[in-house]
Amino acid sequence: MFEKVCFIGLGLIGASLAQAMRDKKLAKSIVAVSRSQSTIDKGINYGLLDAGFDDAALAVQGADLVVIATPVQAVKKIFEQIKPIITDKTIIMDVGSTKGNIIADASAVFGEDMPKGFVPAHPIAGAEKSGIDARNAKLFDNHKIILTPLDTTSKQAVKKVIALWEQTGAEVVTMPADYHDKVLARTSHLPHLLAYNLVAQLAKHNDNMDIFRFAAGGFRDFTRIAASDPTMWHDIFYANKTALLDAIDEFSEQLSQLKTIIETNDSERMLGVLTQAQAARQHFG
Ligand code: NAD
Repeated sequence: MFEKVCFIGLGLIGASLAQAMRDKKLAKSIVAVSRSQSTIDKGINYGLLDAGFDDAALAVQGADLVVIATPVQAVKKIFEQIKPIITDKTIIMDVGSTKGNIIADASAVFGEDMPKGFVPAHPIAGAEKSGIDARNAKLFDNHKIILTPLDTTSKQAVKKVIALWEQTGAEVVTMPADYHDKVLARTSHLPHLLAYNLVAQLAKHNDNMDIFRFAAGGFRDFTRIAASDPTMWHDIFYANKTALLDAIDEFSEQLSQLKTIIETNDSERMLGVLTQAQAARQHFG
């Protein structure tokens, strides 16, 4: 499918895709750029990589697919580094959890010369684990991948990216970037913020109350995602600031309504809210 694939960032998402591509023989050669030599060494020892680099411009030479899999606020600098090397035939795909800011960064770097092969993507699959050792070739199996192609993106590049993800077992959906950011602010970014917030709030009590000793399955389920990588989520919260602030406002409004329902002993309304939520959650599966 590809002659040479260059991964920039070889953590959970990058290494999982690299592993899936290796297993399914989707690329003749796979190389990666990493800031850490130990990640490169592991990539080679695990049979994922043919070569590793610390310099993006060098690594991208001759690649027909470049996968950018770093935290979202690192992507702009990578666009700057690869700009002199890529051609109109290079497919450039990021896998960032936010899309509007990455497209804005691409516009700022490439201007009128936006690469026709730029295909922004977001796998709706992941884990609270990070790094190459957390990789899982089946991570994308039966999961959705959202693409937010630009008007300038070539149909051929989109077709190739769709075929790649389908080979990993994923289902590909295409939508505008601003719609993606509004939806994901509510289904992913807000829940992560709430989980981090709850754990941070409770951790303040922990010194004198040892509160986590008495936390059970519900707490574990609700807060699992607060074990995710802080840099990654720091970047996402700022990169999708506008949509996330709207989602926080909606949440605060609903929370204060629930507070009033409790204060006023409005048990009928409380049961109504809980029943509606239960039905929606059961529908989700
Ligand atoms: P990760 O922490 O496992 O891997 C990130 C990789 O990027 C590491 O190899 C790290 O060394 C490298 N990196 C970090 N900062 C860098 C910088 N400034 N310059 C160059 N390289 C840098 O993270 P991940 O989970 O693989 O996430 C990668 C991307 O995928 C992020 O943009 C994230 O938003 C997106 N994503 C993550 C998930 C998830 O659940 N983890 C799901 C979908 C999309």
